[in-house]
Parts: sequence; C-alpha cells; structure tokens
Amino acid sequence: MVVAVRCPEERCQKYQLVEDANRGQVVVCLICKASIRVPAAGASPPPPAIPKAIPIPPNLPRAKPL
Ligand SMILES: [Zn+2]
Repeated sequence: MVVAVRCPEERCQKYQLVEDANRGQVVVCLICKASIRVPAAGASPPPPAIPKAIPIPPNLPRAKPL
C-alpha cells in the first residue's frame, strides 16, 4: 500500500506517493528535493483526494469527424 504526502515546500506543494514502509520516516521530494515527513500509521490526516482516471463508458457514442 502507498500513502500520499504533500511536499511542505511553498513553491512545490506537490503530492507524492510513498510506500507504507516509509511511514514515520522522512522522504525526499522528487520534484524539489525537500524533506517530507511521512506521518506515522494511525496519526495521518484524511488522505487527499487523488484524481483517478475516469473510465470511459463503453456505450458512449463516438464523435464523428466532419
Ligand atoms: Zn517538493
């Protein structure tokens, strides 16, 4: 399982996924290299909403080219 953390760097603030095994540890932001503390299990705030890929309904009519 993975947990989402947000980079604390003001200019970054990007969400990243880290392994559950990294809970309670500090990871490095992949974008700005800042240190991100991963909340320990049980002490985490509600996970941020991560946009998921929206499945395309199979019966959707296809747009026809002009
Ligand atoms: Zn960052």
